[in-house]
Amino acid sequence: MSIQNQLANVKKNIPEHVTLVAVSKTKPDEELMQAYDAGQRILGENKVQELVGKYERLPKDIVWHMIGHLQSNKVKFIAPFVSLIHAVDSPKLLKEINKEAKKNNRVIDCLVQLHIADESTKFGFSPEEVEEFLKSDQVKSFENIRIVGLMGMATFTNDTDQIRSEFGVLKQTFDSLKNDLLKDQAEFSTLSMGMSGDYQIAIEAGSTMVRVGSTIFGARNYNNLG
Ligand SMILES: *Cc1c(COP(=O)(O)O)cnc(C)c1O
Repeated sequence: MSIQNQLANVKKNIPEHVTLVAVSKTKPDEELMQAYDAGQRILGENKVQELVGKYERLPKDIVWHMIGHLQSNKVKFIAPFVSLIHAVDSPKLLKEINKEAKKNNRVIDCLVQLHIADESTKFGFSPEEVEEFLKSDQVKSFENIRIVGLMGMATFTNDTDQIRSEFGVLKQTFDSLKNDLLKDQAEFSTLSMGMSGDYQIAIEAGSTMVRVGSTIFGARNYNNLG
């Protein structure tokens, strides 16, 4: 099936209040342009070099999201144009984003990554740590970033009960921050959870932003990458 049809199918499954990020990592420019021509403007990438190349070559009205783990020393390459950084997983990274945003006279929107999955290698804060982090004076002092929500990934499993419960923890953490610590910050409104395999469960659990790659663009072939 064509990218255009796949995209239309995914959109049919997504209610209006949920934002679709089409995850185009590893895919060639022509395929991104097929999604673009079908009206998709928000694209997600997880490698800095690839993101910068695509930004430079493709239409300037594309809204680029950095969805993957981001190293502090690479923030400077995307700070001039990135629209949302999904995976802030350390105080050091946030500090660097603030610094580079300032250099570019920008305010960069960020999501804080929570690790909710049972894989111990996943990046991000625990639900307990995230509140401490957001309360800290340093984070509150950053003027060139906006924390607009949370992001998380469920365990890669067929156990839908487990996925549902992990998304539930993320939603609960989001709601409790929104209703308490961040209740005066209306911009704290995005809950980025759900990928190709689990976005419908994520939406039922309260997701406001889904990151869908292979269901739109087809399976990725990492062997083609240098
Ligand atoms: C690759 C990736 C996705 C999309 O994965 P699919 O299963 O292809 O939909 C979503 N989120 C992140 C963080 C990713 O790295």
